[in-house]
Amino acid sequence: MASTSPAADTVRLYGQRWSRDAYAIRDFLTRSVVHFTWTDIEDDESCMRVLGRSLAEAGLPIVDLPDGTRLIDPSIAEIAARLGWVARPKLAEYDLSVYGAGPAGLSAAVYAASEGLSVVLVEREAVGGQAGYSSLIENYLGFPTGVSGGDLAERARQQAVKFGAELLLMRGGIAGSFTDGRIHAQLDDGTTMVAKANICATGVEWRRLGIDREEELLGVGVYYGAGTSEAPDCAGDTVYVVGGGNSAGQAVMNLAAYAEHVTMLVRGPDLASTLSDYLEQRVRRAPNIDIRLDTRVSRLDGDTALAGLELEDARTGRREEVAADRLFVCIGGSPDTAWAEPTDIVCDERGYMVTGPDIDAAALSKVWPLERPPFFLETSVPGAFAAGDVRHGSVKRVASAVGEGAMAVTFAHRYLAETFG
Ligand SMILES: Cc1cc2nc3c(=O)[nH]c(=O)nc-3n(C[C@H](O)[C@H](O)[C@H](O)COP(=O)(O)OP(=O)(O)OC[C@H]3O[C@@H](n4cnc5c(N)ncnc54)[C@H](O)[C@@H]3O)c2cc1C
Repeated sequence: MASTSPAADTVRLYGQRWSRDAYAIRDFLTRSVVHFTWTDIEDDESCMRVLGRSLAEAGLPIVDLPDGTRLIDPSIAEIAARLGWVARPKLAEYDLSVYGAGPAGLSAAVYAASEGLSVVLVEREAVGGQAGYSSLIENYLGFPTGVSGGDLAERARQQAVKFGAELLLMRGGIAGSFTDGRIHAQLDDGTTMVAKANICATGVEWRRLGIDREEELLGVGVYYGAGTSEAPDCAGDTVYVVGGGNSAGQAVMNLAAYAEHVTMLVRGPDLASTLSDYLEQRVRRAPNIDIRLDTRVSRLDGDTALAGLELEDARTGRREEVAADRLFVCIGGSPDTAWAEPTDIVCDERGYMVTGPDIDAAALSKVWPLERPPFFLETSVPGAFAAGDVRHGSVKRVASAVGEGAMAVTFAHRYLAETFG
């Protein structure tokens, strides 16, 4: 979490407000629950004052680590490595590999490790997945006043590591093959990982708006997700949030605590069908929040950073230009399961992995080698399970993802017993 009062073990980040690289670092540190201070270097003068160098010489962003190391314009992978989070797999073969350290993957790792399986959890970004973007999860059992997604994930990470799960961060699975009764995963750093069973818990990726200049303005006024790392920096800003679901509702409430004004842009004609009642009531009551239904963003304006939007009324087609400092896009996601295409894993037309009784019988008969049908969370490849948002038909909730992660481990036990004794 960003703060202004440094402690001895605090990471210090220096950069310019509209720097895309500085944003990526803030986002990563916030989601990873690393305490850090953020210093906005406005101009040459403040750069000389704070860092003793001109802007041209400084090489921003700069990260000062608690051990005194200074990293100049580092990549996220370099920061993670310097914080001691990137390790190589310790075993040649695991009982269980889990892809994705969101709620489902973390839960699978906790239960598998606590039940004595050797388990490795592979995550390509920060621990926590989508939940890490949530400023306050209020519907998770046992937290009556809510819990931030980052805190929940960090607690789960500690629990998994305590039980002996191995965590490999900053590594993405890019290909998988099923040979010798084992699952061989190829990771993006060239490592191959072998396991007797696997749980895919890779969730979903943010959906894009699909309009011009979206990539160019990403991190400099345009953001995907709830803006947990950016909210404290929005003082005095005019903010827009696209989306009508609970993640957008949370984002709106969180941003409105700092921004001058927040507008929620909803494509459909009402909120009730997409937003939980408790959130809708709060959004409607807040004095600095407006809701615009039937509205979509049709253009992004600004030279080096976002400065305005063109909004289109879906009913009339009327277009209007508005000034905007920030735009947060919270329109859900789609699964990134292209790696499964060359395998026998059946996915639905949107890429979600189909499991158990949901697998089409004709498709299953072509690839399924066993007498028994697939277990409830088992894909069309024996020993390969899917849990959480990546699964066809899943309920998109933290509690369900956690439940499925734990349940998938039970089925993995059954598979390991029947296959390896
Ligand atoms: C802003 C926001 C607020 C929300 N608020 C709530 C709430 O209040 N209550 C609630 O119940 N739900 C909430 N949700 C929904 C909830 O967070 C998700 O349903 C839940 O996180 C799904 O968990 P998951 O583990 O299945 O997937 P994810 O959380 O999506 O995690 C998947 C993980 O897999 C990793 N990954 C993906 N591909 C690879 C790969 N190839 N290799 C390695 N790693 C990979 C990703 O980086 C990610 O960390 C919210 C979601 C958002 C975005």
